[in-house]
Amino acid sequence: MAEKILKPKGPSIDIIKSETYEWLGKKADEQGKSLRRFLNDLLDMVVEREEFLAQVFPDLKKIGFTDGHLYIKDDKRSEVATIGLDEKGFVFCQLCKKIDCPHTLYSMAMIEVTRLAPLRMKK
Ligand SMILES: [Zn+2]
Repeated sequence: MAEKILKPKGPSIDIIKSETYEWLGKKADEQGKSLRRFLNDLLDMVVEREEFLAQVFPDLKKIGFTDGHLYIKDDKRSEVATIGLDEKGFVFCQLCKKIDCPHTLYSMAMIEVTRLAPLRMKK
């Protein structure tokens, strides 16, 4: 059943990479859910996360992700925070020069967090 969602009839179009499909199926099994149920729950949580972040950080908004760096618009400060990794591999905010500010907290909830790249650190 679930494969019908992921692999529609017609020309062979891979919607999900096979290794990702396998991983998702394994996670669904671990939670005792069908793949359909698991994916729907996952997507619901993505939507809920957006709503949660808008409530908790009403002044912050992701405006981009380029070359491994997140760009967070801070309406309260009227500035853009560039987020990447410091030399120790921690999520780091170039605007605040800290690993623990609202921008890094917000960034930790972004799906791109695993793809952050080192920042050029000024000493
Ligand atoms: Zn910051």
